[in-house]
Amino acid sequence: MNIELLEQILKENNQPKFRLGQIIKAVYQDGVSSFLEISNLPKDLREILNKEIKILSFEAEKVLVSENKDSIKALLKLEDGNKIETVLISPKPGVWSACISCQVGCPMNCEFCATGSGGFKRNLTAEEISDQVLFWKTQTPPVLANAKTTSPLKGEVGRGLKISNIVYMGMGEPFLNWEEVRESLKILTDPKGMNFGSRSISVSTVGIPGGMEKLTRDFPQINLAISLHFADDKKREKFMPANKNLNLEKLKNELEKYFEKSNRKVFLEYILFSKINDSEKDMRDLIKYIKSFRKQHLLHVNLIKYNPVGNNQETRSNNQKITKTNKFISSSSEQAIKFRNYLLQNKINCTIRKSLGTDIQGACGQLAQH
Ligand code: SF4
Repeated sequence: MNIELLEQILKENNQPKFRLGQIIKAVYQDGVSSFLEISNLPKDLREILNKEIKILSFEAEKVLVSENKDSIKALLKLEDGNKIETVLISPKPGVWSACISCQVGCPMNCEFCATGSGGFKRNLTAEEISDQVLFWKTQTPPVLANAKTTSPLKGEVGRGLKISNIVYMGMGEPFLNWEEVRESLKILTDPKGMNFGSRSISVSTVGIPGGMEKLTRDFPQINLAISLHFADDKKREKFMPANKNLNLEKLKNELEKYFEKSNRKVFLEYILFSKINDSEKDMRDLIKYIKSFRKQHLLHVNLIKYNPVGNNQETRSNNQKITKTNKFISSSSEQAIKFRNYLLQNKINCTIRKSLGTDIQGACGQLAQH
């Protein structure tokens, strides 16, 4: 919601100062989906607002609900015609996490990621970022009532839904758009606004020089996750060009500084690709890397089964020839368990993260602009 425009409209209509607070509370906290619903405003003001300002800075073009009803993905059309995606996932009953985007596309070009392969268009504004949470919080029932969904839940999902966590893990790299991401975090954590606790929010990065320092300076309580995926510089650089600017040693130095200042746990995200980063050598590389940290106990590895993008929806069978389209194939569940157990035996904190929303292309690495 554009607060500046709202203030201007209230001023032009000679409204008392407390009106702003009433409207912010109704939208950000009570979850009204239209200004017409704010019953403690005079009727003529409700109508003026309804005509002159929109609650959201985009329109939902498509909303998909996963088969097992634990994920919802929305394709949002911004005012300039660009499109982004946002996802709501439920890792356990009654708990919903909003996964939000911070850029249209992404310039980091990680080879396995649908967002990266679509290129970069522009940064999102703070309003466009925080509005994605507002969208899930306020608009889900009416939007779903009119949406194309793949589930009989049409019109049902989202009613009374409470968002517990927010993760900046959608499209884009947060530290390449820090000014706007920081403003969006202020909106989300403002006690008079959406009032989310800092500890319920996570920012995920591939590693941008100086990025973590900004996070500790501006939001020391917000969680940090690193998209690591490879513990060998050659491999990481091959699949993640960001490694050229911040290689594993430099990434470690930035993390050590982060630990000195925050003493907080950091999640290392590691997507498992069959025969690319799931061998015993890869396990040893990862263990060696983590053990080289002074505060290794603060690192927690999240193993993630790769989510196929586009037509690449198979698990590699033995001796299968690698072609361009099937270069990235998910490791088998057995290999994921073996990987996890090896790490645990070596006293590395590690979990296999449940993958949600793959059937609606709403899982990690699958977000695009279609
Ligand atoms: S994985 Fe993240 S940083 Fe890499 S291209 Fe995708 S969105 Fe960008």
